[in-house]
Amino acid sequence: MLYKTISKANFKVFINEVIAGNVTIAPKMTDKDSEGNPVYQFQQVYAFDEIALNYTKTYSSLKNFFLPFKESLSTFQFDKNEWKQKIEYSIHPRVIVGVRACDINGLLKLDNVLMKGKYPSPYYVARRTNTFLIGLDHEPMADCFCQSLNSDEALHGFDLFLTDIGDKYFMQINSSKAFNLFKNVQINDIETEDEEKYIAEKKRIASLFKTRVAITGLSNLMDIEFESDVWKKWGDKCLSCGTCAMVCPTCYCFTVTESIDVSLKFALKEKVLYSCNLVDFAEVAGGHNFRPEPATRLKYRFYHQHRGFVESYDEPKCVGCNRCGIACPAGINPIDVIHDLRMEDVK
Ligand code: SF4
Ligand code: SF4
Repeated sequence: MLYKTISKANFKVFINEVIAGNVTIAPKMTDKDSEGNPVYQFQQVYAFDEIALNYTKTYSSLKNFFLPFKESLSTFQFDKNEWKQKIEYSIHPRVIVGVRACDINGLLKLDNVLMKGKYPSPYYVARRTNTFLIGLDHEPMADCFCQSLNSDEALHGFDLFLTDIGDKYFMQINSSKAFNLFKNVQINDIETEDEEKYIAEKKRIASLFKTRVAITGLSNLMDIEFESDVWKKWGDKCLSCGTCAMVCPTCYCFTVTESIDVSLKFALKEKVLYSCNLVDFAEVAGGHNFRPEPATRLKYRFYHQHRGFVESYDEPKCVGCNRCGIACPAGINPIDVIHDLRMEDVK
């Protein structure tokens, strides 16, 4: 890792150069909610001034740029007794600007499964390795609990990471690709004053976290509380809509569909993101459903986040962004569910 600073004026020049030569995705204000608060979303940008670097939150996560809701796995052409299969997973290099540390950590968790796991996904690997990531520190929202999950700091998984220290950014340069991009833009060595400002800003951000969730020993507690009525309490509220998994930066369950065109000459195999909360998630051939009740499905989602993933990767799958809690139409959020589990509160 190299540490440098860049003036905000030069950062603007740098980003405009990046935009001129690459597909660039960044947070944009796209709407206002019913209370007049801005709504932000990651979208393609065409100039630096479109970027909302001071964005608060995005309802959907960056996951969808790496795991789209629906993607083609392969197509088939039939001709008389011959058939051809076509598989495409190459993508053009692209840049994503303004990524939060918790979202970078979310991608690292997906990397564990989809890049470094037993069955890597070439579709995911192509998107991940062709994406240049520029991270940015930010103040936490009132309901963020990423600090409790050690996800408020990104130690790797990005090309550049910026911290605002006044009229310049403190930059962590984490790839030779990133360093080479600064050939035409001036960057500076770190001075003592920059280091002091950086440390002070890190401390200030860390002190702003208001929501804490007790994670220590949670996976063991889950073993003990497998039959807890807390699962029924929250499961009875669950509408089995699957929204929580769609917005979650680390949920990757999917289903595969196959369709054939009426001419019988063309077929398509597609992957569609799915959720373990959906009613037929554990239904098998013959119609038996291993998890018919919403409470069981909700419980298993939490077990994957905080028990099963810990067993496989020594860390929870959840990064503490609370997107699932914000999006849930039934008001179910991990902060309350984990609290109730610890307190055995079933009322
Ligand atoms: S808080 Fe919810 S949406 Fe965010 S990572 Fe954890 S389970 Fe996923
Ligand atoms: S978003 Fe809420 S209601 Fe919908 S499946 Fe998830 S927990 Fe259940």
